[in-house]
Amino acid sequence: MSSINQNKRTILVIEDDKSISNFICTALQSGGYIPLTASDGEQAKQMLASHGPDLILLDLGLPDMDGIEIIKWVREWSSVPIIVVSARGREADKVDALDFGADDYITKPFGLSELTARIRTALRHADRTSGSGAPGGETVTVGDLSIDIGKRRVMLGEREIRFTAIEYKIVSLLAKQVGRVLTYDYIIKEIWGPYASSDNQILRVNMANIRRKLEENPAEPKYIVTELGVGYRMLEK
Ligand code: CA
Repeated sequence: MSSINQNKRTILVIEDDKSISNFICTALQSGGYIPLTASDGEQAKQMLASHGPDLILLDLGLPDMDGIEIIKWVREWSSVPIIVVSARGREADKVDALDFGADDYITKPFGLSELTARIRTALRHADRTSGSGAPGGETVTVGDLSIDIGKRRVMLGEREIRFTAIEYKIVSLLAKQVGRVLTYDYIIKEIWGPYASSDNQILRVNMANIRRKLEENPAEPKYIVTELGVGYRMLEK
């Protein structure tokens, strides 16, 4: 491989639909990535073990196994980012995929800019978490909003926003993983512990209060959006 490729990231595309796979590979190449392909689960496992890609794009509907099996298998030994490519209307599948350790999902049909934005976010997050551990005094900035994780201080422009302890925990959890969708169950377990009821009501009430404090128009949030049937995502700006 030429030295020009030494800084390029490799991305394994696990997809049995040839036309979708080709479309994604062309997009990856023009985005400066090196695409690898696998058209079924067994081939994917071989490619993963032999190439150690920097990121995985995974179709859940594979001919020989459920894509969820791939996620479980990879997560036993690797934290490589996994973005699930899924069909519209399969919210339950997306939630399963995220809860088993996928980093994000993208819904077919999608545009190239959306795909490459998701890839950049996932790679950046992987770089951050594989670095020197917990980012102590990190400040997350999204537009006019800045969340100082070290000082536990949230500013909107010049104005400090006061949250309850629970509200702050939710905001900082989303901020630490800015750009990623967090499922309702994941947030509930992180905030209220593993024995909390998985009823979303308490989370929804807190999110409504957060948005009232944070958003100009809480019905059209700019900072924390709802991924319908899946969870919440703090948008990157
Ligand atoms: Ca498929």
